[in-house]
Amino acid sequence: MARRHDALFRRIEDQTDALVELTRDLIRIPTVNPPGDAYTPCAELLGRRLAARGFQVTYVRAEGTPGDSDRHPRTNVVARIEGQRPGRCVHFNGHIDVVPAGHGWTVDPFAGVVRDGRVYGRGACDMKGGLAAAVAAVEAILACGVPFAGALEISGTVDEESGGFGGVGYLARQGWFSPPRVDHVIIPEPLNVDRVCVGHRGVWWAEIETKGREAHGSMPFLGNCAVRHMGAVLHRIEEELIPHLAGKRTAMPVVPEGARQSTININAIHGGQEEDRDGLPSPMVPDSCRMVVDRRYLIEEDPETVKGEIVAILEGLKRDRPGFDYAVREVLAFLPTMTDADAPVVRAVERAVEQVLGRPAQRVVSPGTYDQKHIVRVGHLKDCIAYGPGILDLAHQPDEYVDIADMVRSAQVMAAAALDLLGA
Ligand SMILES: [Zn+2]
Repeated sequence: MARRHDALFRRIEDQTDALVELTRDLIRIPTVNPPGDAYTPCAELLGRRLAARGFQVTYVRAEGTPGDSDRHPRTNVVARIEGQRPGRCVHFNGHIDVVPAGHGWTVDPFAGVVRDGRVYGRGACDMKGGLAAAVAAVEAILACGVPFAGALEISGTVDEESGGFGGVGYLARQGWFSPPRVDHVIIPEPLNVDRVCVGHRGVWWAEIETKGREAHGSMPFLGNCAVRHMGAVLHRIEEELIPHLAGKRTAMPVVPEGARQSTININAIHGGQEEDRDGLPSPMVPDSCRMVVDRRYLIEEDPETVKGEIVAILEGLKRDRPGFDYAVREVLAFLPTMTDADAPVVRAVERAVEQVLGRPAQRVVSPGTYDQKHIVRVGHLKDCIAYGPGILDLAHQPDEYVDIADMVRSAQVMAAAALDLLGA
């Protein structure tokens, strides 16, 4: 067994240049989301490559999902290759979409610049480098002729950065991520080569609206100012909710440490006249103020309690504050998820990390969600983790990069873990 893995690991190292080239090719296709550009050519790049190695390749367009149109089709690709006899299936899933480049780059974000042992570009770390490493892992298994039972799958999916509804969410609803088709899923998100990510905190996004009544700005006492009402909401969030949330600690091994508690962010606030109006503003008492809150919560918390805490503040203000009225609209909600520590995929990847890196893996939980939520909740497949190269903090930043040596080592880990899971 050890000798066979030696050949496999050497093969992956020998193919480093091909791994770098694949990463660069993926970065050069600007799959920016929003709006969801160039998904089809990126899916086809993966599909063509894997078809040439004997994979059965299927393209799945998530018709009717948010953002899907003929101009921006939500094109996913799933590739599968069967082993020598029936058995279980290990699936590697990577999202092909990237967030917009933004500002502050010192290199072209879509050129795939290679420098100092790193590949730079938007998506290098999150997560085209990881997807390329998964491809390298599977290609090495095939090239070395390692016999295995069951099947290996690789998917390139869209829209992870906007909730995954047109990607893994859509595929999971159609059974692509459920037994008996798939048994174990590894998502090569950038969590560092020595970390196994078993899940994520929950998320509840809501838009809170405070309501008032318009009047002339010189006589505010004749109206009812929705922005002042929102000020009162913010005050209670600041004085009551944030200290309360800081006291809620989790047994989930969330990284970084600051996220090992319940948190809330105020994502946006809008009240009164639009800033992009023409001409000077007019004196008005605003009758509406809207705020989007981003609540991240723990596996120990009940989602109804999470919502109830916000509603209790609003109901309290309705009692205490004359003229206060409000509405709450849920924008997005995902439950926390955490794979069991002794689940097969967790143990297999931890063993492989120890074998490749010579030190124990660190078991972590992500502060934010990723596509595991759809696989667990919609696909009802619990044996799922995130493991991949790249430094989480670099995701979505200018001059994002992935370390080439890390890609190679993570590919070795993924190959060894897959063979372990398939009983090779
Ligand atoms: Zn990602």
